[in-house]
Amino acid sequence: MTTKKKRKKRLRLRYEGVKFLTYFIFFLLLFIYTITNSIKIYSFYQYKKTDEYKIRTMGYSLEETKDFLKIIDDDIKEFLLTNPKEDIYYSITQEKYFLPKNYIKYIEYQKSNQNLSLKDIIAMVNVHSSEGWYNNTYKTDMSKKNLILVNKFYQLEEGYQRDDLVEIPLQYSYDDNKAAKEVVDKYIEMHKKVKEELGIHLMVNSSFRSYEEQNEIYKSFRSKGEAYADAYAARPGFSEHQTGLAIDITSTAHPYSKDFKESEEFEWLKNNCYKYGFILRYPEGKEKITGYSTESWHFRYVGVENATKIFKEGITLDEYYAYFIEK
Ligand SMILES: [Zn+2]
Repeated sequence: MTTKKKRKKRLRLRYEGVKFLTYFIFFLLLFIYTITNSIKIYSFYQYKKTDEYKIRTMGYSLEETKDFLKIIDDDIKEFLLTNPKEDIYYSITQEKYFLPKNYIKYIEYQKSNQNLSLKDIIAMVNVHSSEGWYNNTYKTDMSKKNLILVNKFYQLEEGYQRDDLVEIPLQYSYDDNKAAKEVVDKYIEMHKKVKEELGIHLMVNSSFRSYEEQNEIYKSFRSKGEAYADAYAARPGFSEHQTGLAIDITSTAHPYSKDFKESEEFEWLKNNCYKYGFILRYPEGKEKITGYSTESWHFRYVGVENATKIFKEGITLDEYYAYFIEK
């Protein structure tokens, strides 16, 4: 072969190689492009099936949607996907003490009580007061010990009486008052502190009451009508006094509840009783939650740790129990 021919052949081979490489790169890029797009289409198709996509199509922002996903269950999902967006459907989830299990109840209660704040809606649904006093009642969970809840929804058994009731010594109490031993010990400690700091002598007016005794009290109030009786006295089985964990306190300086409410010893108790494991059980402004007119004398023992938390949160036992204890 001549040198000329050899060169020509080499050139043709090089040309074929370049052509092949060009085609190869072209088809490779086309292949990658097609695969990438297919993945994208497939991913979007998959994304459309997610709750995130479905909630977003209802008009909620990505941030709102992500918050919903943290609490979502079948009921919440169905609600969000079948009801046109309203601000409250999201804003209620951002309230303190919001419980996902109550979501639908909050919404329903808010619709028929638009004068109430979201804070009240949350509290009232959590503690059942939205259901109406005594309408739905539940057996109280006795395993909760110092935290057993007794209110207009949680009921004690008729014959229930704890077996560690002791007499409160007469220098700290009027006649014939008993309470759980731990309660009496802590009350005496608190009594001494009040005496030391204010020179005031606290007295217990009433503490443990049996089912039968409560029945008599309720009946006496009932002569003025059921609504009146329910505002001031518990129905039998629904009184904290039956637990042996509640004590009614006033002082020798202010024996009457009306004066006691204005006294410095009440102010002291309100702000310090948690250090001894007590809480003011029916505070002012919480009537919608507790179902009782405020009682400056009624203190409930829950133990120091719980009392401290309840005091710092500024909530009632009912709210505390619903949010932190009852799961
Ligand atoms: Zn009381």
